[in-house]
Amino acid sequence: VPASTNSKRIKPTLLVSRLYQPSNLRDVGPDSRLQGEMTCKSQRLMQQAGLIHPSNPGCYYYLPAIVRSMEKLVRVIDQEMQGIGGQKLDMPSLCSAHLWKTSERWDLMGKELFRLKDRHGAEYCLGPTHEEAVTTLVAHQTTLSYRQLPLLLYQITRKFRDEPKPKFGLLRGREFYMKDMYSFDVSEEAAYETYESVCQAYTRLFARLGLRCVQVQADTGNIGGKLSHEFQLPADIGEDRLLVCGRCSFSANVETMSSDRTDCPQCKTGKLVESKGIEVGHTFYLGKKYSHIFSATFSNAQNKPVIAEMGCYGLGVTRILAAAIEVLSTEEGIRWPGLLAPYQVCVLPPKKGSKVDDAAVLAEELVHTLGESGPHLRGEVVLDDRTQMTIGKRLKDASSLGYPYVIVVGQGALEETPRFEVICQETSETMFLSKDGLLDLL
Ligand code: ATP
Ligand code: MG
Ligand code: MG
Ligand code: MG
Repeated sequence: VPASTNSKRIKPTLLVSRLYQPSNLRDVGPDSRLQGEMTCKSQRLMQQAGLIHPSNPGCYYYLPAIVRSMEKLVRVIDQEMQGIGGQKLDMPSLCSAHLWKTSERWDLMGKELFRLKDRHGAEYCLGPTHEEAVTTLVAHQTTLSYRQLPLLLYQITRKFRDEPKPKFGLLRGREFYMKDMYSFDVSEEAAYETYESVCQAYTRLFARLGLRCVQVQADTGNIGGKLSHEFQLPADIGEDRLLVCGRCSFSANVETMSSDRTDCPQCKTGKLVESKGIEVGHTFYLGKKYSHIFSATFSNAQNKPVIAEMGCYGLGVTRILAAAIEVLSTEEGIRWPGLLAPYQVCVLPPKKGSKVDDAAVLAEELVHTLGESGPHLRGEVVLDDRTQMTIGKRLKDASSLGYPYVIVVGQGALEETPRFEVICQETSETMFLSKDGLLDLL
């Protein structure tokens, strides 16, 4: 059976020739204008592999492969947030100026706020964060009882900020995805407990992704409140400066300290070492700041209204994707946290017209067998059917996109006991395995 007839059995969405991942760098020389705009490794790799496409400053098209990764990341975030009692909602991005004037952040936010008017002249902003909105929502519920607290509400939506210098691809956009959670508690003590459980969930999340993350004391900025931590991925490209004690657990963003300090304020004996980080998450204990302004109350055991204690907790969803690529990748190719790779496996049939052309059918069979071997591989195994290209060229593309496993179907597959060449991205190891061996590995 000729391969072309046979390949009709594989869904077009699993054929590399049909996947929409237009590289917009491939033929761009080092001096070109486009290359000049590349501000970091993750942006270059993501454009090269056809994951993102630049639109206007700080805004990108998220192309199908990165949308797959983002959906995977969202699933992991959902698991962790719901694991600590978070309930998912979705709030309007169009936020009334009235709310922002009430909290006094309409002026405080300055130029970072995207402002607009409707046809009646009413003023709005595009939500950069949602403390005002969520607190108003909760304030509307007059029947909230202490028995229903802690209440944890979160969303994963686009946020808008008119950043003065949007750069570094998805690391600093003007329109980006954030997970923002808000907590309501009966007392300061209970709010601290909730705060701690969110920090633990963040730590678990980054551990699951295989990303080394440092939790540092942070400034509370214009969000307000008393207690705050940032979750930072150590990276030279990071825009935050961190001070970490060599002796004890103390770590802080320099913004929180009188600068140039070198002795540890906690253990007093250790020396502070400076490094750079990418802020991927931020937690704030807010106290009654917003609940007081908007009268977000619950009724206590005596049925009296009491102002709720709040916290808010952000995660940069698109920033995590880019930051992970930034810290894990080589200059030549993307390396993903295994959980987030757009596809887990890429199968390469031989070049058309080569001596081992017959193995093409086996490659297609393999895509089917693997794809149906369990839910973890369903829809995750693609066939690079661009058989007019050499294996070498397709291997290079596969390495640039960073499939965790690449399987080359060649001479070995035609032997009496068929063997497949497997390249494991994480370890750079090459193995020769039988079909059963492959199924065991994957
Ligand atoms: P930064 O210091 O990098 O400007 P921020 O402190 O202003 O970030 P927060 O208000 O704490 O950001 O928002 C929560 C999270 O949203 C951040 O920890 C970060 O991961 C993400 N985030 C903030 N701004 C951007 C942006 N411009 N592009 C992508 N992600 C962002
Ligand atoms: Mg900012
Ligand atoms: Mg910051
Ligand atoms: Mg922050």
